[in-house]
Formats: sequence, structure tokens, C-alpha cells
Amino acid sequence: MDGVALTDANVARALPQAIAAWEQTPLGASQADALAGASVQIADLPSGLLGITEGQSVYLSRDAAGFGWSPDRVTPGGGMDLLTVVEHELGHVLGLVDVNTATHPADIMADSLSAGQRRDVSDTIFSNYAFNRRGGSALAV
Ligand SMILES: [Zn+2]
Repeated sequence: MDGVALTDANVARALPQAIAAWEQTPLGASQADALAGASVQIADLPSGLLGITEGQSVYLSRDAAGFGWSPDRVTPGGGMDLLTVVEHELGHVLGLVDVNTATHPADIMADSLSAGQRRDVSDTIFSNYAFNRRGGSALAV
């Protein structure tokens, strides 16, 4: 495991950063409400999953599916980039769905992530989305 196990302190630092990133995008009023009510919990997820979102509740893998986390970008490690994953899961809170990593490699909603890789909301092309649609129930990664 190249990264570290996730802590509540890591989450408490990453969540407001991820919310701030999404607040730079053209959110509808209901999306702004959804974002404000989002919560993140550390959980033991099924194998291979970094995060799951149900409604406004985000669940992050304790050990990043065995890779470990890189919990901040000041001291990056070889694990899964926490901010990337929190931004991605908040995209689901906003009603966005996953896109194919092969065709949208820089998109925050790309459906897979490699250890050490970063994506940001600001690099995402929002014309890809029907932005006010709410997505399905539980979406992985
Ligand atoms: Zn996803």
C-alpha cells in the first residue's frame, strides 16, 4: 500500500476544498442545496471501490481499495488522490453520472482512477452533461 489509511481529519480538510471547486461551476439552486448538505463518511467498501454516493451521503474506502490514499496535495504520495475522489463523488451528489475514462480521461466524472493520478473539477468540460439531471442511486468510483 503506497498511500495511507483515511482519517476523519483528512476528510474534514478535503470536503470544503471539493465543495469550493464545485462552487466555481454553474450550479442550479437545487444543486447548491445538495452540495451544502453533502456528508462524507469512511467505510469498508466492496473490493475495488474508492467511493460510493447515495443521495447526499458519500462513503469513501478506508484504504482506497488497498492502494491507500494520498490525503493532501502538499505532500503527495503514491496512493489514490483524495481530493480527486471527493470531487468526483460530489459530482454524483450534484446528479452527474460517470463517464468513460477512455474517452474522457481528464474529466472529474471519469469512471476509474490510477494511484498517483489527479483530476480536477476545473478541467472538466461541463457541456458533456445535462447539468440539472439527478443521477441514479448508488454509483461506484
Ligand atoms: Zn462515479
